Amino acid sequence: MIPSDIIAKKRNGEELKSNDLSWFISKYFEDYISDAQMSALLMAIYFNGMTKKELLTLVDGMIKSGQVIKFKESKFYIADKHSTGGIGDKTSIILAPVMAAAGVRIPMIAGRGLEYTGGTIDKLEAIPGINVTPSLNKFKTWVENIGCAIISQSKDICPADNKIYALRNQTATVPSIPIICSSIMSKKIAEGITGLVMDIKVGNGAFMKTKTNAFELSNLIEMIATSYGLKIDILYSDMNQPLGRYAGLGCEIKEAIDCLKGNGPKDLMTNTFELCSCLLIQSDKAKNKQESKEIFDRIIKTGKGFEIFQKMISLQNGSLENFEEEIKPQFEKIITSNKKGTINYMDTEKIGWSLIELGCGNKRKQDKLDYTAGIEFFVKPGDIVKKGSPVYRLFNSNIKKMVSTSELLSNTIRVH
Ligand code: URA
Repeated sequence: MIPSDIIAKKRNGEELKSNDLSWFISKYFEDYISDAQMSALLMAIYFNGMTKKELLTLVDGMIKSGQVIKFKESKFYIADKHSTGGIGDKTSIILAPVMAAAGVRIPMIAGRGLEYTGGTIDKLEAIPGINVTPSLNKFKTWVENIGCAIISQSKDICPADNKIYALRNQTATVPSIPIICSSIMSKKIAEGITGLVMDIKVGNGAFMKTKTNAFELSNLIEMIATSYGLKIDILYSDMNQPLGRYAGLGCEIKEAIDCLKGNGPKDLMTNTFELCSCLLIQSDKAKNKQESKEIFDRIIKTGKGFEIFQKMISLQNGSLENFEEEIKPQFEKIITSNKKGTINYMDTEKIGWSLIELGCGNKRKQDKLDYTAGIEFFVKPGDIVKKGSPVYRLFNSNIKKMVSTSELLSNTIRVH
């Protein structure tokens, strides 16, 4: 088979043969096919899409690049949650220990930041010492011991997604519906779960900017779940504004801890609850939303979720001992409103790019992340501001980036 021939077929809008596509994925993983060739195929997929048959072949190839986890015959419901990506979305970090406290097993394989959206793994790595690439056995043992663990794709599990994920981030090929579907679903199926809840973010800070795109993605995700016998619920949530009060790296872990201690902001707690509720009902832990609310509130109130979070971090070798000190930024700057009125728009994608500029993401593969960096949001759409009222607090440990980010952030809020 000839790689450039396969790329040309996709470029010309032809349907790829299953053998050709499977071969391309496995050879990329073996380094026979180069990053340049994979990037070209991804861009051809970005422009021409994929048929359902091609998509299923892609998912299958990505799963087979690594191992599929098998949990011991167990009395526990094994499930997970995944989001299509947004700004300030730290829901996974709260949901995993809460669901474990409810008796549902959560073996979560999460991602890093993609383009302007944040990644759970990048945020977790703000915790000193944390291990997000354990052996599969270790991962299974952690989940079996305390009910949850959050790791990254690795050389053992979904290695093809690991490699393609990083490439997509450098080549503007992220917002392709079939590629997003294959990235998410290959990870989830490799986890050996029975149930899944998907959070499809819709809005100006999401990859799915319109409901039409979100429904298209949702239909394909459902089609993949069905063909692998996975129970699934799909939620749509708003990404026309950041989720919660903070977006960044270490600050999002701190906010997740606040939520687990019962002090989280309303929008973030509601989004987390809605997702937990789907899994509680799927797993027969709750009959309806009211029962799931009682379970969720009890886990937060008793501190059981926070207790499991602490155990999870400690099992994963992380230390929370001096965490607040570790993520203390050197610089901060308040940005104020230049007029009075009601906020009626936040350019959430631009806020996401500002976070990358501030140090929360890498523009190039070799860039280092600044775990102290983030933004605090004093206002959201619908809020009333005076001229000179604070709207954002930026913080990081690189003054040059602080200055360039302030420029980027201007005009991300419309006041009327
Ligand atoms: N999350 C993933 O794992 N992959 C994507 O492409 C988008 C969100």
